[in-house]
Amino acid sequence: MKIHEYQGKEILRQFGVTVPRGIPCMSVEEAVKAAETLGGKVWVVKAQIHAGGRGKGGGVKVAKSLEQVKEYADQIMGMQLVTHQTGEAGQKVRRLLIEEGADIKQELYVSMVTDRVSQRVVLMASSEGGMDIEEVAHSNPEKIHTIAIDPSVGLTAAEADDISTKIGVPAASIADARTQLMGLYKAYWDTDASLAEINPLIVDGAGRVIALDAKFNFDSNALYRHPEIVAFRDLDEEDPAEVEASKFDLAYISLDGNIGCLVNGAGLAMATMDTIKLFGGEPANFLDVGGGATAEKVTEAFKIMLKNPGLKAILVNIFGGIMRCDVIAEGVITASKAVSLQVPLVVRMKGTNEEIGKKMLADSGLPIIAADTMEDAAKAVVAAAAGKA
Ligand code: GDP
Ligand code: MN
Repeated sequence: MKIHEYQGKEILRQFGVTVPRGIPCMSVEEAVKAAETLGGKVWVVKAQIHAGGRGKGGGVKVAKSLEQVKEYADQIMGMQLVTHQTGEAGQKVRRLLIEEGADIKQELYVSMVTDRVSQRVVLMASSEGGMDIEEVAHSNPEKIHTIAIDPSVGLTAAEADDISTKIGVPAASIADARTQLMGLYKAYWDTDASLAEINPLIVDGAGRVIALDAKFNFDSNALYRHPEIVAFRDLDEEDPAEVEASKFDLAYISLDGNIGCLVNGAGLAMATMDTIKLFGGEPANFLDVGGGATAEKVTEAFKIMLKNPGLKAILVNIFGGIMRCDVIAEGVITASKAVSLQVPLVVRMKGTNEEIGKKMLADSGLPIIAADTMEDAAKAVVAAAAGKA
Protein backbone atom coordinates (compact mmCIF):
# COMPACT_ATOMS: atom_id res chain seq x y z
CA MET A 1 0.00 0.00 0.00
CA LYS A 2 1.19 3.51 -0.85
CA ILE A 3 0.59 6.78 0.98
CA HIS A 4 1.08 10.48 0.24
CA GLU A 5 4.26 12.41 0.95
CA TYR A 6 2.63 14.47 3.73
CA GLN A 7 1.50 11.26 5.45
CA GLY A 8 4.99 9.79 5.08
CA LYS A 9 6.42 12.90 6.67
CA GLU A 10 3.97 12.59 9.55
CA ILE A 11 5.32 9.08 10.19
CA LEU A 12 8.93 10.26 9.89
CA ARG A 13 8.25 13.08 12.35
CA GLN A 14 6.89 10.58 14.86
CA PHE A 15 10.15 8.66 14.62
CA GLY A 16 12.30 11.71 15.22
CA VAL A 17 13.23 12.48 11.62
CA THR A 18 13.41 16.20 10.82
CA VAL A 19 10.91 17.29 8.17
CA PRO A 20 9.95 20.83 7.10
CA ARG A 21 6.89 22.41 8.71
CA GLY A 22 3.98 21.87 6.37
CA ILE A 23 0.21 21.73 6.06
CA PRO A 24 -1.77 19.43 3.71
CA CYS A 25 -4.59 21.18 1.79
CA MET A 26 -7.63 20.20 -0.23
CA SER A 27 -8.21 23.56 -1.95
CA VAL A 28 -6.43 26.68 -3.20
CA GLU A 29 -7.99 28.78 -0.41
CA GLU A 30 -6.66 26.35 2.18
CA ALA A 31 -3.24 26.52 0.52
CA VAL A 32 -3.02 30.32 0.85
CA LYS A 33 -4.21 30.12 4.45
CA ALA A 34 -1.64 27.42 5.15
CA ALA A 35 1.16 29.62 3.80
CA GLU A 36 -0.03 32.48 6.05
CA THR A 37 -0.13 30.15 9.04
CA LEU A 38 3.38 28.87 8.32
CA GLY A 39 4.73 32.39 7.90
CA GLY A 40 8.13 33.16 6.41
CA LYS A 41 9.02 34.35 2.91
CA VAL A 42 9.40 31.18 0.85
CA TRP A 43 6.96 28.30 0.48
CA VAL A 44 6.89 25.16 -1.56
CA VAL A 45 3.64 24.09 -3.24
CA LYS A 46 3.69 20.32 -3.72
CA ALA A 47 1.24 18.09 -5.58
CA GLN A 48 0.27 15.05 -3.52
CA ILE A 49 -0.15 11.97 -5.70
CA HIS A 50 1.02 8.39 -5.25
CA ALA A 51 3.86 8.76 -7.76
CA GLY A 52 7.34 10.22 -7.85
CA GLY A 53 8.95 12.55 -10.37
CA ARG A 54 6.48 15.31 -9.52
CA GLY A 55 9.16 18.00 -9.62
CA LYS A 56 10.02 17.39 -13.28
CA GLY A 57 6.33 17.16 -14.19
CA GLY A 58 5.58 20.62 -12.76
CA GLY A 59 4.02 19.41 -9.53
CA VAL A 60 6.53 21.05 -7.15
CA LYS A 61 6.97 24.84 -7.20
CA VAL A 62 8.82 27.29 -4.96
CA ALA A 63 6.76 30.41 -4.21
CA LYS A 64 8.25 33.70 -2.99
CA SER A 65 5.03 35.50 -2.12
CA LEU A 66 1.49 34.66 -1.02
CA GLU A 67 0.31 35.69 -4.51
CA GLN A 68 2.66 33.11 -5.98
CA VAL A 69 1.42 30.48 -3.54
CA LYS A 70 -2.08 31.14 -4.87
CA GLU A 71 -0.89 31.15 -8.49
CA TYR A 72 0.97 27.83 -8.16
CA ALA A 73 -1.73 26.20 -6.05
CA ASP A 74 -4.22 27.21 -8.78
CA GLN A 75 -2.02 25.66 -11.45
CA ILE A 76 -1.29 22.44 -9.62
CA MET A 77 -4.60 21.68 -7.92
CA GLY A 78 -6.76 19.68 -10.30
CA MET A 79 -4.05 19.29 -12.93
CA GLN A 80 -3.48 15.96 -14.62
CA LEU A 81 0.11 15.48 -13.45
CA VAL A 82 2.19 13.31 -15.75
CA THR A 83 5.43 11.82 -14.42
CA HIS A 84 7.51 8.82 -15.48
CA GLN A 85 5.63 6.86 -12.79
CA THR A 86 2.04 7.79 -13.69
CA GLY A 87 1.90 6.69 -17.32
CA GLU A 88 0.72 8.96 -20.14
CA ALA A 89 -2.71 9.60 -18.66
CA GLY A 90 -1.20 11.13 -15.53
CA GLN A 91 -2.83 11.40 -12.15
CA LYS A 92 -5.29 14.09 -11.09
CA VAL A 93 -4.03 16.27 -8.22
CA ARG A 94 -6.61 16.49 -5.44
CA ARG A 95 -4.38 17.39 -2.50
CA LEU A 96 -1.51 19.80 -1.98
CA LEU A 97 1.19 20.11 0.63
CA ILE A 98 2.31 23.64 1.52
CA GLU A 99 5.68 23.69 3.22
CA GLU A 100 8.14 26.26 4.46
CA GLY A 101 10.94 26.65 1.94
CA ALA A 102 14.30 25.05 2.68
CA ASP A 103 17.73 26.52 2.08
CA ILE A 104 19.28 23.62 0.18
CA LYS A 105 23.08 23.26 0.28
CA GLN A 106 23.29 19.58 -0.61
CA GLU A 107 20.77 17.02 -1.92
CA LEU A 108 21.36 13.40 -0.88
CA TYR A 109 19.47 10.15 -1.38
CA VAL A 110 18.64 7.57 1.31
CA SER A 111 16.22 4.67 1.35
CA MET A 112 15.41 1.42 3.13
CA VAL A 113 14.24 -1.71 1.35
CA THR A 114 13.98 -5.35 2.32
CA ASP A 115 16.58 -7.35 0.44
CA ARG A 116 15.49 -10.93 -0.15
CA VAL A 117 19.00 -12.19 -0.92
CA SER A 118 20.59 -11.08 2.36
CA GLN A 119 17.21 -11.39 4.13
CA ARG A 120 17.88 -8.03 5.74
CA VAL A 121 16.76 -4.46 5.62
CA VAL A 122 19.20 -2.64 3.41
CA LEU A 123 20.05 1.04 3.73
CA MET A 124 20.88 2.58 0.36
CA ALA A 125 22.46 6.00 0.15
CA SER A 126 23.93 8.23 -2.51
CA SER A 127 25.40 11.69 -2.91
CA GLU A 128 23.15 12.09 -5.99
CA GLY A 129 19.98 13.32 -4.29
CA GLY A 130 17.05 14.68 -6.24
CA MET A 131 17.75 12.31 -9.14
CA ASP A 132 16.03 9.04 -9.91
CA ILE A 133 17.95 6.31 -8.16
CA GLU A 134 17.41 4.04 -11.20
CA GLU A 135 19.25 6.63 -13.28
CA VAL A 136 22.13 6.79 -10.78
CA ALA A 137 22.29 2.99 -10.67
CA HIS A 138 22.63 3.01 -14.44
CA SER A 139 25.09 5.88 -14.96
CA ASN A 140 27.06 5.98 -11.67
CA PRO A 141 26.58 2.70 -9.79
CA GLU A 142 29.72 3.42 -7.73
CA LYS A 143 27.86 6.36 -6.18
CA ILE A 144 25.35 4.08 -4.47
CA HIS A 145 26.39 2.74 -1.07
CA THR A 146 24.53 0.03 0.82
CA ILE A 147 24.51 -1.53 4.28
CA ALA A 148 22.65 -4.74 5.11
CA ILE A 149 21.41 -4.15 8.64
CA ASP A 150 21.64 -6.88 11.28
CA PRO A 151 18.08 -7.23 12.62
CA SER A 152 19.25 -8.22 16.11
CA VAL A 153 21.20 -4.98 16.51
CA GLY A 154 19.51 -2.52 14.17
CA LEU A 155 21.34 0.26 12.38
CA THR A 156 24.38 1.17 14.47
CA ALA A 157 25.84 4.65 14.93
CA ALA A 158 29.09 3.49 13.32
CA GLU A 159 27.26 2.21 10.22
CA ALA A 160 25.20 5.40 9.95
CA ASP A 161 28.29 7.62 10.27
CA ASP A 162 30.24 5.53 7.78
CA ILE A 163 27.60 5.76 5.06
CA SER A 164 26.98 9.47 5.77
CA THR A 165 30.69 10.14 5.28
CA LYS A 166 30.69 8.17 2.02
CA ILE A 167 27.85 10.24 0.56
CA GLY A 168 29.52 13.50 1.50
CA VAL A 169 27.70 14.70 4.62
CA PRO A 170 30.00 17.38 6.11
CA ALA A 171 31.71 16.45 9.41
CA ALA A 172 29.68 19.01 11.35
CA SER A 173 26.40 17.39 10.21
CA ILE A 174 27.31 13.71 10.75
CA ALA A 175 25.65 13.51 14.17
CA ASP A 176 22.48 15.05 12.77
CA ALA A 177 22.48 12.64 9.81
CA ARG A 178 22.83 9.75 12.28
CA THR A 179 19.62 10.82 14.03
CA GLN A 180 17.81 10.94 10.69
CA LEU A 181 19.06 7.55 9.48
CA MET A 182 18.31 5.81 12.77
CA GLY A 183 14.85 7.37 12.80
CA LEU A 184 14.25 6.22 9.24
CA TYR A 185 15.31 2.67 10.11
CA LYS A 186 12.99 2.57 13.11
CA ALA A 187 10.11 4.01 11.05
CA TYR A 188 10.68 1.36 8.39
CA TRP A 189 10.90 -1.46 10.90
CA ASP A 190 8.02 -0.51 13.16
CA THR A 191 5.53 0.18 10.37
CA ASP A 192 6.28 -3.00 8.34
CA ALA A 193 7.23 -0.86 5.37
CA SER A 194 8.55 -2.44 2.19
CA LEU A 195 10.09 0.80 0.96
CA ALA A 196 10.98 4.04 2.71
CA GLU A 197 12.73 6.59 0.52
CA ILE A 198 13.89 10.12 1.27
CA ASN A 199 14.90 11.82 -1.96
CA PRO A 200 16.22 14.36 -1.37
CA LEU A 201 17.57 14.31 2.16
CA ILE A 202 19.19 17.72 2.37
CA VAL A 203 21.86 19.52 4.31
CA ASP A 204 20.72 23.14 4.67
CA GLY A 205 22.62 26.39 5.06
CA ALA A 206 22.80 25.93 8.84
CA GLY A 207 24.14 22.37 8.46
CA ARG A 208 20.85 20.76 9.46
CA VAL A 209 19.86 17.47 7.86
CA ILE A 210 16.22 17.45 6.72
CA ALA A 211 13.94 15.02 4.84
CA LEU A 212 12.49 17.06 1.96
CA ASP A 213 10.54 14.20 0.41
CA ALA A 214 9.08 10.96 1.80
CA LYS A 215 7.91 7.90 -0.05
CA PHE A 216 6.60 4.82 1.73
CA ASN A 217 5.23 1.49 0.57
CA PHE A 218 3.83 -0.95 3.11
CA ASP A 219 3.58 -4.72 3.12
CA SER A 220 -0.15 -5.33 2.68
CA ASN A 221 0.12 -8.65 4.52
CA ALA A 222 1.06 -6.71 7.67
CA LEU A 223 -1.59 -3.98 7.44
CA TYR A 224 -3.88 -5.83 9.82
CA ARG A 225 -1.60 -4.73 12.65
CA HIS A 226 -1.38 -1.10 11.52
CA PRO A 227 -4.83 0.49 11.54
CA GLU A 228 -3.11 3.89 11.73
CA ILE A 229 -1.54 3.23 8.33
CA VAL A 230 -4.70 1.79 6.78
CA ALA A 231 -6.33 5.10 7.79
CA PHE A 232 -3.91 6.85 5.39
CA ARG A 233 -5.33 4.93 2.43
CA ASP A 234 -6.53 7.23 -0.40
CA LEU A 235 -8.80 5.30 -2.75
CA ASP A 236 -8.71 8.19 -5.28
CA GLU A 237 -5.11 7.22 -5.97
CA GLU A 238 -5.79 3.54 -6.53
CA ASP A 239 -6.94 1.72 -9.63
CA PRO A 240 -10.78 1.44 -9.35
CA ALA A 241 -10.74 -2.13 -10.69
CA GLU A 242 -8.23 -3.15 -8.05
CA VAL A 243 -10.21 -1.47 -5.29
CA GLU A 244 -13.37 -3.30 -6.44
CA ALA A 245 -11.52 -6.63 -6.66
CA SER A 246 -10.11 -6.27 -3.15
CA LYS A 247 -13.69 -6.16 -1.81
CA PHE A 248 -14.22 -9.69 -3.13
CA ASP A 249 -10.86 -10.93 -1.97
CA LEU A 250 -9.64 -11.31 -5.56
CA ALA A 251 -5.94 -10.77 -6.27
CA TYR A 252 -6.27 -8.44 -9.26
CA ILE A 253 -3.76 -6.14 -10.95
CA SER A 254 -4.68 -3.98 -13.98
CA LEU A 255 -2.31 -4.19 -16.95
CA ASP A 256 -2.16 -2.44 -20.32
CA GLY A 257 -3.17 -5.26 -22.70
CA ASN A 258 -6.54 -6.42 -24.04
CA ILE A 259 -6.79 -10.07 -22.94
CA GLY A 260 -8.55 -10.64 -19.63
CA CYS A 261 -7.17 -13.54 -17.59
CA LEU A 262 -9.09 -15.48 -14.96
CA VAL A 263 -6.91 -18.10 -13.32
CA ASN A 264 -6.73 -19.99 -10.04
CA GLY A 265 -3.37 -19.83 -8.33
CA ALA A 266 -0.77 -17.06 -8.59
CA GLY A 267 1.83 -19.30 -10.24
CA LEU A 268 -0.58 -20.49 -12.93
CA ALA A 269 -1.71 -16.87 -13.43
CA MET A 270 1.89 -15.79 -14.07
CA ALA A 271 2.50 -18.73 -16.40
CA THR A 272 -0.73 -17.93 -18.27
CA MET A 273 0.33 -14.31 -18.81
CA ASP A 274 3.77 -15.46 -19.99
CA THR A 275 2.19 -17.89 -22.46
CA ILE A 276 -0.16 -15.21 -23.82
CA LYS A 277 2.82 -12.91 -24.35
CA LEU A 278 4.82 -15.73 -25.94
CA PHE A 279 2.16 -15.99 -28.65
CA GLY A 280 2.06 -12.24 -29.22
CA GLY A 281 -0.83 -11.22 -26.94
CA GLU A 282 -0.96 -8.68 -24.11
CA PRO A 283 -2.74 -9.48 -20.83
CA ALA A 284 -5.24 -6.88 -19.58
CA ASN A 285 -4.85 -8.04 -16.02
CA PHE A 286 -3.40 -10.45 -13.53
CA LEU A 287 -6.19 -12.25 -11.70
CA ASP A 288 -5.93 -15.04 -9.20
CA VAL A 289 -9.40 -16.09 -8.04
CA GLY A 290 -7.84 -18.29 -5.38
CA GLY A 291 -8.52 -21.84 -4.36
CA GLY A 292 -12.14 -21.41 -3.34
CA ALA A 293 -13.44 -19.75 -6.49
CA THR A 294 -17.21 -19.79 -6.10
CA ALA A 295 -19.67 -18.90 -8.86
CA GLU A 296 -20.17 -15.51 -7.14
CA LYS A 297 -16.45 -14.79 -7.14
CA VAL A 298 -16.11 -15.78 -10.78
CA THR A 299 -19.07 -13.52 -11.65
CA GLU A 300 -17.51 -10.55 -9.82
CA ALA A 301 -14.21 -11.22 -11.54
CA PHE A 302 -15.94 -11.17 -14.96
CA LYS A 303 -17.70 -7.92 -14.10
CA ILE A 304 -14.46 -6.26 -13.08
CA MET A 305 -12.62 -7.39 -16.21
CA LEU A 306 -15.51 -6.27 -18.46
CA LYS A 307 -15.43 -2.71 -17.06
CA ASN A 308 -12.24 -2.29 -19.08
CA PRO A 309 -13.40 -0.81 -22.42
CA GLY A 310 -10.25 -2.08 -24.12
CA LEU A 311 -10.97 -5.73 -23.33
CA LYS A 312 -11.08 -7.87 -26.48
CA ALA A 313 -11.15 -11.45 -25.19
CA ILE A 314 -11.02 -13.48 -21.98
CA LEU A 315 -9.03 -16.56 -21.13
CA VAL A 316 -10.17 -18.73 -18.25
CA ASN A 317 -7.42 -21.14 -17.24
CA ILE A 318 -8.30 -23.35 -14.31
CA PHE A 319 -6.59 -26.24 -12.63
CA GLY A 320 -9.15 -28.33 -10.79
CA GLY A 321 -7.27 -29.66 -7.80
CA ILE A 322 -9.20 -28.98 -4.64
CA MET A 323 -11.58 -27.05 -6.87
CA ARG A 324 -13.59 -29.29 -9.23
CA CYS A 325 -13.87 -28.39 -12.91
CA ASP A 326 -17.66 -28.82 -12.93
CA VAL A 327 -17.98 -26.20 -10.20
CA ILE A 328 -15.83 -23.83 -12.22
CA ALA A 329 -17.86 -24.57 -15.36
CA GLU A 330 -21.01 -23.70 -13.46
CA GLY A 331 -19.38 -20.46 -12.29
CA VAL A 332 -18.29 -19.53 -15.81
CA ILE A 333 -21.75 -20.27 -17.26
CA THR A 334 -23.58 -18.33 -14.53
CA ALA A 335 -21.17 -15.42 -14.83
CA SER A 336 -21.29 -15.29 -18.65
CA LYS A 337 -25.08 -15.15 -18.53
CA ALA A 338 -25.18 -12.66 -15.66
CA VAL A 339 -22.93 -10.20 -17.47
CA SER A 340 -24.30 -11.04 -20.96
CA LEU A 341 -20.80 -11.59 -22.22
CA GLN A 342 -19.96 -9.86 -25.51
CA VAL A 343 -16.29 -10.72 -25.96
CA PRO A 344 -14.92 -14.14 -27.03
CA LEU A 345 -14.24 -16.48 -24.12
CA VAL A 346 -11.60 -19.19 -24.25
CA VAL A 347 -11.73 -21.78 -21.49
CA ARG A 348 -9.12 -24.32 -20.56
CA MET A 349 -9.57 -26.58 -17.60
CA LYS A 350 -7.64 -29.53 -16.29
CA GLY A 351 -8.06 -31.81 -13.33
CA THR A 352 -10.88 -33.23 -11.26
CA ASN A 353 -14.16 -33.73 -13.19
CA GLU A 354 -12.62 -32.18 -16.27
CA GLU A 355 -14.87 -34.15 -18.66
CA ILE A 356 -18.07 -33.19 -16.83
CA GLY A 357 -16.99 -29.54 -16.80
CA LYS A 358 -16.18 -29.53 -20.51
CA LYS A 359 -19.53 -31.13 -21.35
CA MET A 360 -21.36 -28.50 -19.28
CA LEU A 361 -19.62 -25.70 -21.20
CA ALA A 362 -20.36 -27.38 -24.56
CA ASP A 363 -24.03 -27.86 -23.64
CA SER A 364 -24.45 -24.33 -22.28
CA GLY A 365 -25.13 -22.80 -25.68
CA LEU A 366 -22.60 -20.07 -24.91
CA PRO A 367 -20.04 -19.21 -27.61
CA ILE A 368 -17.18 -20.61 -25.59
CA ILE A 369 -13.97 -21.66 -27.30
CA ALA A 370 -12.63 -24.77 -25.56
CA ALA A 371 -8.89 -25.38 -25.47
CA ASP A 372 -6.93 -28.34 -24.23
CA THR A 373 -3.31 -27.30 -23.74
CA MET A 374 -1.83 -24.01 -22.53
CA GLU A 375 -0.49 -23.45 -26.02
CA ASP A 376 -3.90 -24.04 -27.66
CA ALA A 377 -5.56 -21.75 -25.15
CA ALA A 378 -3.06 -18.94 -25.57
CA LYS A 379 -3.10 -19.14 -29.37
CA ALA A 380 -6.90 -19.20 -29.41
CA VAL A 381 -7.28 -16.18 -27.14
CA VAL A 382 -4.61 -14.17 -28.97
CA ALA A 383 -6.41 -14.88 -32.27
CA ALA A 384 -9.78 -14.02 -30.71
CA ALA A 385 -8.44 -10.73 -29.34
CA ALA A 386 -7.14 -9.86 -32.81
CA GLY A 387 -10.62 -10.55 -34.22
CA LYS A 388 -9.55 -13.77 -35.93
CA ALA A 389 -11.54 -16.21 -33.85
P1 GDP B 1 9.50 14.36 -6.57
O1 GDP B 1 9.95 15.06 -7.83
O2 GDP B 1 8.14 13.73 -6.73
O3 GDP B 1 10.51 13.39 -6.06
O4 GDP B 1 9.31 15.52 -5.47
P2 GDP B 1 10.34 16.14 -4.39
O5 GDP B 1 9.60 16.34 -3.13
O6 GDP B 1 11.58 15.33 -4.29
O7 GDP B 1 10.67 17.56 -4.99
C1 GDP B 1 11.40 17.70 -6.21
C2 GDP B 1 12.53 18.71 -6.06
O8 GDP B 1 12.02 19.98 -5.68
C3 GDP B 1 13.56 18.38 -5.00
O9 GDP B 1 14.54 17.47 -5.44
C4 GDP B 1 14.13 19.74 -4.67
O10 GDP B 1 15.22 20.03 -5.54
C5 GDP B 1 13.00 20.69 -4.95
N1 GDP B 1 12.45 21.15 -3.66
C6 GDP B 1 11.61 20.52 -2.84
N2 GDP B 1 11.39 21.23 -1.72
C7 GDP B 1 12.11 22.37 -1.85
C8 GDP B 1 12.35 23.53 -1.03
O11 GDP B 1 11.85 23.66 0.09
N3 GDP B 1 13.17 24.51 -1.53
C9 GDP B 1 13.74 24.41 -2.76
N4 GDP B 1 14.52 25.41 -3.18
N5 GDP B 1 13.58 23.35 -3.53
C10 GDP B 1 12.78 22.33 -3.11
MN1 MN C 1 11.73 13.18 -4.50
